[in-house]
Amino acid sequence: MADYIYTMEIRLTPDQQRGVTLVQDIARAAGMNIYLTGGAVRDIISGLPIRDLDFTVQGNPLRLQKDLERAGATIAAADDDLKTLYLVLPGKVRSEISMARTERYEKTGKPPIIASATIIEDLRRRDFTVNAMALSLNPGSRGLLMDPFNGAADIEAKLLRVLHNYAFVEDPSRLIRASRFAARFHWPLEERTQARFASAKENNYIEYITDRAIGYETEQLAYEEDPLHIIRVLEKEEWLNVLSPHWSTAKVDSAGLGQLLKTRQQMNELGYTPDPAPAVLYFLTARLGDKDIADMRKLIPRKDLVEAWRDLEDNAKDLAKRLTSKEAATPSRTWKLLSEARPEMVLFLAVTARQQAVAQKIKNFFTKWRQVQQKIPLAEMTELHITPQLPVYPKIAQDVFMLLLDGKLRSRTEILKFLKPLAPPPPPPPPPPPAKRGRAAKAAAAAAAAAQAAIAAQSAGKKKSKGGVAAVPAPQAVAKVEAVAAPKHKPEKHKAAKKAAKKAAKAAGKKAKGKKRR
Ligand code: ATP
Repeated sequence: MADYIYTMEIRLTPDQQRGVTLVQDIARAAGMNIYLTGGAVRDIISGLPIRDLDFTVQGNPLRLQKDLERAGATIAAADDDLKTLYLVLPGKVRSEISMARTERYEKTGKPPIIASATIIEDLRRRDFTVNAMALSLNPGSRGLLMDPFNGAADIEAKLLRVLHNYAFVEDPSRLIRASRFAARFHWPLEERTQARFASAKENNYIEYITDRAIGYETEQLAYEEDPLHIIRVLEKEEWLNVLSPHWSTAKVDSAGLGQLLKTRQQMNELGYTPDPAPAVLYFLTARLGDKDIADMRKLIPRKDLVEAWRDLEDNAKDLAKRLTSKEAATPSRTWKLLSEARPEMVLFLAVTARQQAVAQKIKNFFTKWRQVQQKIPLAEMTELHITPQLPVYPKIAQDVFMLLLDGKLRSRTEILKFLKPLAPPPPPPPPPPPAKRGRAAKAAAAAAAAAQAAIAAQSAGKKKSKGGVAAVPAPQAVAKVEAVAAPKHKPEKHKAAKKAAKKAAKAAGKKAKGKKRR
């Protein structure tokens, strides 16, 4: 059991981990049992990248909406029939929370009758064994894997297996899902599943697919890592024109899509994480007619995705306009503009910019100008005590970078001339150690007094003092000696000082006596 908590924690990204904690805590506070389900569990176990988080709660997740929003989640859509929330958790983590439910299919092509259920009952309505597992997020059983159909064994065997003989008949969108998963993972359909698949295809059950499933499956394409490969497979299986009647690979801008995914990869390497989904849909449908695109958009459940896709071109035009205006007259201003723009827009414009000036500026932003960062004069800054400990450090470093970008700081002399007035005053000398109190201080004072006595005795001997008694040192002198002789913290040292002073006093006394006798 503990293994799965560990596996889950090491397999999720930090943002996904925070997402799990956030949703789990909100569901628990509302008294709902909560489980991680579907693809997330499959991907945790199989070691494949975890793309999104699917949660199932025993109860109505629509009741959690306000608490989730308060915690920073954005609700992308809410399905009141299926009691499902589509949301984006902080850190851009795509997520779904569904009510645990049973689905009773009375007639092919008709939506199922839904009823709330336990998690085990819910797992029975799922598509493939590898997707029919749940990981408990509840106190007392956190990390417990529920795997009633032995999905873990099918992951091991890399097989896609339906849960029962009527899987494709009840919901023909599972045919498309089967092809999509087989294409993504390169896992074949298990023998009997393959036979059911072939028979459902032959009987044209796909005709009965619901609009909701069409929208859902279209949306899923936007999140695929290699959408072109998936689209080709779907076309071969004749599922693509089920999703949209005139869709084919000929309608895809493959070059644009390829460029998009390459640029996205480069941006990821530089630490930007743009969501490519809207742009993926843009290129996948680049040559489809407006009406087909409008129909497609109506069926996609996540409205934020639809809006982002719809507004892509206009937003890119705006950004291009700003990049050719005074606002981007210098490299530093362009840098600022592009740093503050939404990464999704920079990504899309990087691929689609037609104006040479715009394309060049974006290219500089990702390459040449980044190298200028390495010219920030860290050695000179350290010399002048301009270090990251200073609250103004980020601003100074940024200002230097901007001036370097614009070619306004070229030589070391120019750099020092700019930096010197910004240097903090030199650090003050270290304060004298505080006056000691307690036993340690008393011991130190005694040691100092003894040492002083020894010195006095010595000088008394030298001066042939009449009474032969050491003169009492002036209080300032005591303080000075004390400051030097006082132990810092270690009692051993202070013992040693005491001993040395005693010895010195004794020796000095003897010497004085001897001199007196003579
Ligand atoms: P992906 O990696 O594509 O997100 P996923 O398995 O998470 O894969 P989703 O479409 O997000 O796929 O669906 C979440 C889960 O809901 C699935 O794993 C599956 O258990 C269930 N599910 C989705 N669609 C169906 C369906 N048509 N029939 C049965 N179960 C389904």
